[in-house]
This record gives sequence, C-alpha cells and structure tokens, in this order.
Amino acid sequence: MRLVWGLLLLGWCSNWAQEISWPTRFIEQPFDVLEYRAFLALDSLPAPVLGESACTIVARWRGAPDTLRFHLRGLEVLRCEYLQDDRALPVSWQTRGTPTDATFHYAVPALPSHHEGDTVALRITFRGTMTGEPSVGGVSWGGVQREGAIVYALGVGFYNNYVSATQHWLPCYDHPSDKARFDLTFRVPRSYIVASGGQEFPVRDSAQWRLFRFRSDYPAATYLLTFAAIPESTVAILRDEASLPYPIVLYARRVDSTATRRSFRLLPQMVTAFERRFGAYPFEKVGYVMTQKGAMEHQTMISYPASLARSGDTVNLVAAHELAHQWFGDCVTPLDFRDAWFNESFATFAESLWREELGGTSAYLQEQQRKINAYLNQYAKPGNPLFEGILTMYDFDRTPPSSNYPHVIYEKGAAVLGMLRAAIGDSLFFAWCRMVLERYRYGNIALDTLEQLLSQLTGQHDFVTRFFSEWIRGKGWPVLAIDALSEPSAFGRIATLHIRQTQPDSLGIYTTLPLELSFIGADTVHRIVTITAREQTVVLDSLNTFGTIAVNIGPRVRSLVQLAQAPTVTEVRSEGAILPLQVFPNPTSETVMLSISSEIAGPVMLYDARGSCIWHVGGTGVHALSTQDLAAGTYYAVARDRAHRLHIAAFVVLR
Ligand SMILES: [Zn+2]
Repeated sequence: MRLVWGLLLLGWCSNWAQEISWPTRFIEQPFDVLEYRAFLALDSLPAPVLGESACTIVARWRGAPDTLRFHLRGLEVLRCEYLQDDRALPVSWQTRGTPTDATFHYAVPALPSHHEGDTVALRITFRGTMTGEPSVGGVSWGGVQREGAIVYALGVGFYNNYVSATQHWLPCYDHPSDKARFDLTFRVPRSYIVASGGQEFPVRDSAQWRLFRFRSDYPAATYLLTFAAIPESTVAILRDEASLPYPIVLYARRVDSTATRRSFRLLPQMVTAFERRFGAYPFEKVGYVMTQKGAMEHQTMISYPASLARSGDTVNLVAAHELAHQWFGDCVTPLDFRDAWFNESFATFAESLWREELGGTSAYLQEQQRKINAYLNQYAKPGNPLFEGILTMYDFDRTPPSSNYPHVIYEKGAAVLGMLRAAIGDSLFFAWCRMVLERYRYGNIALDTLEQLLSQLTGQHDFVTRFFSEWIRGKGWPVLAIDALSEPSAFGRIATLHIRQTQPDSLGIYTTLPLELSFIGADTVHRIVTITAREQTVVLDSLNTFGTIAVNIGPRVRSLVQLAQAPTVTEVRSEGAILPLQVFPNPTSETVMLSISSEIAGPVMLYDARGSCIWHVGGTGVHALSTQDLAAGTYYAVARDRAHRLHIAAFVVLR
C-alpha cells in the first residue's frame, strides 16, 4: 500500500508541469467541474469565521485522470477525500505556489481506480477566518466583507492578481472557464438569514441554528457565487411573484425598505425591456441584496450598494447594469478575464438602452455622450486625478492606476458598442447579441468567436476585422481636424470636407468610424459619414446654408472622437474670381492641369475618393499631370494658403 502511494506520487509529481489557468490565460485542465456541493458553518457570526465546513467538488475526468486542482485562500484545509461507493477515501494534497501568486492553489492526485470519463467527488473539509482581497489604499472589495453585523461575499477583486475571489470562502476551481451547478447550504445563528443565488429550498432548523439551502442547475462561474448573512431584525425581504414568470426577491435594509421599493419600482419593466433585446431572462429568479459595497452581478443575487437603493431613484441605472450582466457575463461568460470587456461593455451599454426604453433615442444618445465625456475628460485624460492610462479594452494593462476593472471596459466599451450599432444597424446589431447569447448560452466565449459570429452574420468580414482591431484590440480614439469648403450647387449647398486624423500613430488609425456631422444654420442638416482613412475628402450635396459644423449633436449616433480644433468652413468665392487652386479640364481622361497661385503655401496633395493620397505637387504655376494610370472616379487636390485656409478642387477622371 505504501509502495503504491509512493509510485503514485512519483508519477503524479512528474505532471507538475501541467498548470492551472491564469486569470488572463485559460489553460485546459484534465477535469471539468460539474457541481459544487457545500456546507458552510457560519457559526460565529458576525465574526467572518467558518467552523468545520465542507465542499464537494463533483468533476469529470475529461482526459487521462491526473490532478484535480482547487483554489482556496486564507482558510485551512483539514481533509481531502474522494467519495466513492459510500466510502470516503483520504487523499493527500499539496499547495502550489505561494499565496502572493495569482495561481496559488491546491493539487490533489487522481486515484489509480479513476478512468477517463469518470465522474468523481472530492470532498474538502476546511475552516478558518474568511478574508477579502489584500487592501490597496485602504480598499478591499473582493472576497468576504464584514460591515457591522452583516457578512457577505463579492466575487471579484479590483487589485488582486487572482481576480476571482470566491476562493476566500469556498474551495473551487476559481476560474470563469469552468462553470458548474451549485448546491450551497449555510448554517447560521438563529438571529440570521442568508441571501444567495439559485432556488431556495426549505431546510429544517435546529434549536441553535438555521439552515439556508440554495441550489441551481444553471451552471455558474465561481466568481458569480455569493452569500450575504444578515441579522433578520434588520432586513425586509420584498418578494414579487406576480410581475414576471419568475420571482423577484429584494433583501432590503428594513430602515430603507420604502426607498428601496421605490428604487426598484421599474424592475419588471427593466427585465422585459432587456428580454425584448436579448431574449428570455436566463435564470430562475431575479435577486438583489443590499450591501454596503457593490454592485456585483452575482448570478440571480446581485450585491447592490444600500446607498443607491436608499436614493429612491426609479431609473436605477446601476440596477439595469447588473441586470444586463445576467445575460452578458453570467449566462454567457468570458473564457478568461482578458475578455472582461465583454461583460462590462455590454452592461454599460445596456444602461443607455434602459434610458432609451424610458426616454427614447434622445435619452439614449445623451447617456452615450455622458459616458464618452467621462472617458475622454477624466479616465483617459492625462493629469486628471482619475486618469487610468490609455488602455486597450481586450487584455488591458492592469498596472496601477489601472486595475482589474478599468473604465476603458465600461465607458469606452459602451461607446464602441454604440458605434457598432450605428455602423451595422439595429437589426444586425441585436441579431448578433442574440446569436451570441443563444449559441453560447450557459457557456463561455472569447473575443475571436465574438468577432467570427459578427463577421458571419453581417457578411462584412473586412469591416468587422478592422473594427475589432481598431476599437477592441487597439487603444485610443481618433482626434479629427475638419476643414470644409461650402459652395452653392443646384441642390442647395455642397460641402467638400477634408478630414484628417491627428492622433499619434500609437493611438491607432481608424477606418471604421461612423461620424455624424451637423451643418448648422437656420435649418440644420445632419449626415453620417464613415471615416475610412487617416486623411480623406468627403463631398456632401443637398445641404442647407450653414455657418459651422459640429459632431456628436445629431439624432443618430455618438462617437468616441475628439476634434483637434473647431471645424473651419470657407465659403467659395463668387464666380469669376481667380481661385488659388484650380484644376481643368474637368472631367478629364488623359491629363489634368493644376493651377497653383502664389497664395498657396506648401505642397498640394491629391487624394482619391477613398482618401488615399496619390500625389504631392509643389511650386507655383500650372502643372500638367497625367491621369492615364488613374481609375475612373473623383479626385481631390487639397492645399492650404498662407492664412492657413483650406482649398480643395475636385475633378473627375472618365474612362
Ligand atoms: Zn459590471
């Protein structure tokens, strides 16, 4: 027996190279967790101390049985046993790494009797004081929190290198890639109640203790598990079984119950509004528990800041954000935290959709603009106290002042989804959302798949690739310089716009930017153009007389852009005057003459209709240029005069 164990350990140790997943790097494991069955002895409340507790990890060996791994932080493991045929077979365990490592965990070998495909049950008996993520600047968010007599868990941390924080109270493979059913029983003193996710099952209490059991057959990522233990005398449980096909349960502070009821008055409408956009609500209940810190989208039991509930604000934007996570993040979960943007961008965008539900398109656009302003003027503005760096949305840098949840994945994320919606239209945009939610229901997704689905759905492979690369994989936003010539035409005014991106190359070149331009005058006209090049000339006809041009004030889209300066508008001089820049004949096929007066400063640039620069011409006088190699189409000569005014002359090449 001893020898067998020795050999087993030898064989097992040789497989140490197999790693557990990192928060931002999924590594496939030989096991798949199917269920967590746990008994948690919260006997010492309000002290956050667990008496002898147990968690059984039910897992299937998806490959050759090797090592079962679980995370646990700050708690003491007493025993590990495989449960097999009514027997408990003790098994050794080892820790891997140190608690400061992102991947610190416990490793337990398979038994020799295990085979590929077997379902096994590993019971871990443990106890100790539950803690939270290490405090940074006096703030600890993720993990177990105590506030007065209330003890509750928040599933992720802001500054912890391991991100997912359920390992502070439950032994589990604490990685979003492995979703599992759960069945959690909490033992608490008789003066307490417990709120948690899933369906609540009645359990017989004892003279000393009360038991609360919550289970769900809907798989959950471990970071979405929670509990809140609250003295019964301080809580009001507000139930609504009538408004929706599934119950709504709110655990309010008793002193705030009236305000909480008011804050959540529109919750049924919120759920049905999101169902219209995203498909049926995916779980068995809608729950919120008021805690001091929050908000956190735990599956069916959202931890919600009591201070917000107390405000009585019926719009309750944060409640909408967390509710949207039940679809984005909870029902469909990122494979690892590189795609945390998927959760937060959709949830933040859903805040704007909720505004749209209540106040129409103008309310939607106003909310989108508010997010864009917050991002550009605070979080992405060097020198601002809230500056977090200029980060990518996907796989962002987590070095302070960034964190596990920087604003780029919230405010910029919402703006990016709004631009995508405008670029491809409502029907394709929401069809994409539903396709993602339907195909990956209760599972995991990663960036490439999101991109492929959109590409497949729209048939616009090139556009989708560029959009994802520019906005989600890349960092920054365009800073535009817009100069316009305005001249009369047979159909009102014609505007020839020269639009340049002036941001440094490190912040990207944008070729998928929908931009709404407003030509402001007595009768303002709004037009959406797509910016596709670093420099581009756009001609718009049938405009009314306008004096200035503005962006992001029209009725259809708000874009993540800044202007380098106010757009310039130059009126073309009256007929007969000599223009500083002229082309003739127009149209042409073989040759075009370019006349450059001494007013022009610097070279004249020639662009094709897609905005690519094809020639530079310098020097005053008349230049003959061969157009034989040019494709049929419209071309633009663009230059500035000594007063820095823009001059544009268009010509057409015929074939
Ligand atoms: Zn969120």
